[in-house]
Amino acid sequence: MTNGPVFRFAPSPNGALHLGHALSAIVTFELAQKMGGRFLLRIEDIDLERCRPELEAQMLDDLAWLGLTWEEPVRRQSEHFESYTRALTKLDGMDLLYPCFASRKEIAAHAVAGQNDPDGAPLYPGLHKELSSTEATTRKRASEPFALRLDMDKAIETARAMSPGPLTFGEFNPHNGEIKTMPAEPDRWGDAVIARKDVPTSYHLAVVTDDARQGVTHVTRGQDLFAATDIHRLLQVLLEVPEPLYHHHALLRDEAGRKLSKSHKDQSLASLRAGGASPEDIRFLAGLTKP
Ligand code: GLU
Repeated sequence: MTNGPVFRFAPSPNGALHLGHALSAIVTFELAQKMGGRFLLRIEDIDLERCRPELEAQMLDDLAWLGLTWEEPVRRQSEHFESYTRALTKLDGMDLLYPCFASRKEIAAHAVAGQNDPDGAPLYPGLHKELSSTEATTRKRASEPFALRLDMDKAIETARAMSPGPLTFGEFNPHNGEIKTMPAEPDRWGDAVIARKDVPTSYHLAVVTDDARQGVTHVTRGQDLFAATDIHRLLQVLLEVPEPLYHHHALLRDEAGRKLSKSHKDQSLASLRAGGASPEDIRFLAGLTKP
């Protein structure tokens, strides 16, 4: 095994891959090849209700059809909940988590109008931050669902003590190799959800844990995850894992300017394939080649 760069493509099998995924996968694969690095595929299937084996199988088939090859075994997040629990236990041991029993509706009702997180969701108004441990225990005993939230102020303060200086990340330009230092601003997310009772991790915790476990040095993904890097950097400091470089590529958009999503069925690779498209056509449609 070389010590060269390590790249990964990390789709969630909760819908069909579309042109935006093809773009992301091909950009990552080709960059790994150009830099003499490794290319890993990771299946992000922590949402056991929405992620389905047949969607995963279709996904792997689409990627192979595009001409991508990856290392085996493929890491499947659903097989590694114990890794996320270990990370969660570490954060809990640092006294950075608290349970929140509030429903989405309750949070929306108490949120301050106009105060949203970078994804546009109402900023958590701190509802259960001061809940007594007796009440939390009683509600847990009554089997109430809850989320574990990060005490953001305390987490930032703790991270600062562990790694003095501003929290930043390196955004690399794949064309010329330039690395730009970007500020990471996790406070704009408020007390983010780090795990839930029914799914004992979150996207953020799983991604940071896996990128570290798999030795990922270069994270390439769409611009829609740019702001999530704030939380990932904070967690990397708190969990004492290495910091990868990041490249957030431009998103493909539909005619109305909306980013492609899994609900755009007509843009799915499966339906384009069924309609006779070739891998070259997909590259063209994803904006990777000129006519
Ligand atoms: N699983 C995420 C998605 O499908 C991508 C995670 C990442 O690249 O960090 O949107």
